[in-house]
Amino acid sequence: MQSQELMAKDKSYIMSTYGRYPIALVRGQGVKAWDAEGKEYLDFLGGIAVNLLGHSHPAVVAAIAEQAGTLIHTSNLYYTEPGVELAALLVENGGLDKVFFCNSGAEANEGAIKLARKYQFRKGHPEKTKVVSATHSFHGRTLGALTATAKPEIQEGFGPLPAGFAYAEFGDIEALRAAVDDKTAAVILEPVQGEGGIYALTPEYLQAARAICDQAGALLILDEIQAGLGRTGHFFAYQGLAVKPDIVTLAKGLGGGLPIGAICATQEAASGFQPGDHGTTFGANPVCCAAAVATLKTILSSHLVEMAAEMGRYLMDKLEGLKAKYPALVKEVRGKGLMIGIELSQPGAPVLAKCHELGLLANVTAGTVLRLLPPYVITAKDVDAAVAIIDQALASAVNAKA
Ligand SMILES: *Cc1c(COP(=O)(O)O)cnc(C)c1O
Repeated sequence: MQSQELMAKDKSYIMSTYGRYPIALVRGQGVKAWDAEGKEYLDFLGGIAVNLLGHSHPAVVAAIAEQAGTLIHTSNLYYTEPGVELAALLVENGGLDKVFFCNSGAEANEGAIKLARKYQFRKGHPEKTKVVSATHSFHGRTLGALTATAKPEIQEGFGPLPAGFAYAEFGDIEALRAAVDDKTAAVILEPVQGEGGIYALTPEYLQAARAICDQAGALLILDEIQAGLGRTGHFFAYQGLAVKPDIVTLAKGLGGGLPIGAICATQEAASGFQPGDHGTTFGANPVCCAAAVATLKTILSSHLVEMAAEMGRYLMDKLEGLKAKYPALVKEVRGKGLMIGIELSQPGAPVLAKCHELGLLANVTAGTVLRLLPPYVITAKDVDAAVAIIDQALASAVNAKA
């Protein structure tokens, strides 16, 4: 199907929930992707932080094919190996003890909120039900997760929303202290806000958050769905921040492109769930878990966490150069590792459209922030090519104004 036909059919048959770009992709390999007419793109969005190893990495393709030919699905009534192998990898490379598998980020956060409340309930604190999140956060689109998401545009029209949620100004320690009380079950935070515009919490803030939670008997949940698994230059983002959370949620890149999410918890927090408390039909699906095992093993054996940190520094350096070149247009370049935002002094859409025209995939979040979430396998040459396109796109935005 040619791109125009595909877009027309999509419009007639698929619910209109996404503001899709006028691009139809048919194939990907590594950091590159192609449309039906053969136009080549450098993919610096990576399926929104999902394609950690790029498109169709041979280790992931082989793991999926082999597992699909062996055992695709069993239900959670039986033991299966890929889930156990994946959980062991997550436990051994993080500081947490137990894992629950689900199918998406929203589900992981939904489950984490349930776990925190049930933990408090089992500890004899049924009054501890409040969940505190940060302003400008994003935790997903299911009812609980969207209530934790402190954004009116995500919540509007979906009420009544579940009770027991409160919000604290992002990055403000005193605001968090004021929001957390003896009725608080948990605080949920993104170590680096993704959809909110690439804003990182400082180690000081997170350490204070840990202390505030400890004092109130609340659990600290870190949503590492976008920032985790090497993205920020640490396997778990919290490992670079000198805090130990009680619960960490993962999804996005975990399955190397297949849908899977995870709740990781300390032994203590995990004791909140007993048999019958939580579950999902597809959780720990063998094919998704095999893809995830291949993804994580490749990241670890090829030292891609270190590569993400190194390429992130290289990319950030080049973008600082663009900031110096276009001081009126580029307000700030920020981020950690390969999670980078370029904040513009004007709406990002025209600059992004120019990037698309010139063959670079990225996106715009929070209206003015051009966001880059490339795969960890990018080379300096890929970075140079992407930065040259962004340079040209910025130049055309400057010209359009003049
Ligand atoms: C994407 C994202 C989610 C939601 O994940 P889904 O798989 O889309 O439900 C939650 N939290 C963060 C930080 C995310 O980036």
